[in-house]
Amino acid sequence: MPMSMIFGLKLLINGIYTMLQIHPLGYIKSCFKEKFAIPRQPLLAPAATASLELLAPYNRTEALIGLERVSHIWLLFIFHKALEAKPRLKVRPPRLGGNKSLGVFATRSTHRPNAIGQSVVKLDAIVDNKLYLSGVDLVDGTPIIDIKPYVPYADSVSQAYNDIAPAPPRTIKVQWDVNALLQAQQHQQRLQKPLIALTEQCLAQDPRPAYQQFDPNRQYGTKLWDIEVIWHYLNDDTCHVLIISNK
Ligand code: SAM
Repeated sequence: MPMSMIFGLKLLINGIYTMLQIHPLGYIKSCFKEKFAIPRQPLLAPAATASLELLAPYNRTEALIGLERVSHIWLLFIFHKALEAKPRLKVRPPRLGGNKSLGVFATRSTHRPNAIGQSVVKLDAIVDNKLYLSGVDLVDGTPIIDIKPYVPYADSVSQAYNDIAPAPPRTIKVQWDVNALLQAQQHQQRLQKPLIALTEQCLAQDPRPAYQQFDPNRQYGTKLWDIEVIWHYLNDDTCHVLIISNK
């Protein structure tokens, strides 16, 4: 494993500095090839799929015994596309329109101490010690540093509240250009992946930065599997898929 893939933590324990090394135990292969348009939390796009091939020694059956009895797992990972040298104490969450700041610990921002993220995702299958996942909010190549089973009685808190994010983000309508939909149907068939559902689920989340004014001439794009998706907005509540292409 390359040295750059090992994260070292210097811990002061009983007055003695001890080095703890954190090794990724695998890397995510995701439908999302870039960060833009990935939902801001997991399970918002059930059609978002990924696989996780574990590295030695965790790629052995022993490490996975019992996991087949679990429907969802927590993934702890590194925000490897948002690494920053300088710590941020305040961030501007998109949820608040991108113009109000909050303490970093009140948010799920990607800009955070130690760059550690956590997502609960659906574990669809385990085949040949490879994990097949859905509902992911992770970009391709994300290093995974731990996996834990979701424990409903402990992880779902019925009295919990969060006044900053009280409900899932509002969704908008997604319309298709006739040719783009035709292309999407063909690529979906070729890829054997739910390209249409994923496009609709991601665009319905309205990935535009909140500070951007509505501009019908402005085009946005992202890459799902090997497909470029290009869209624009007809109004603040409707987007329109213009182009689906793998060129
Ligand atoms: N559920 C996680 C959490 O709460 O820690 C992630 C929340 S974060 C707001 C989700 C966003 O992280 C996605 O919309 C995507 O743009 C971004 N993202 C996903 N994988 C990433 C990575 N490996 N590095 C940097 N950003 C990433």
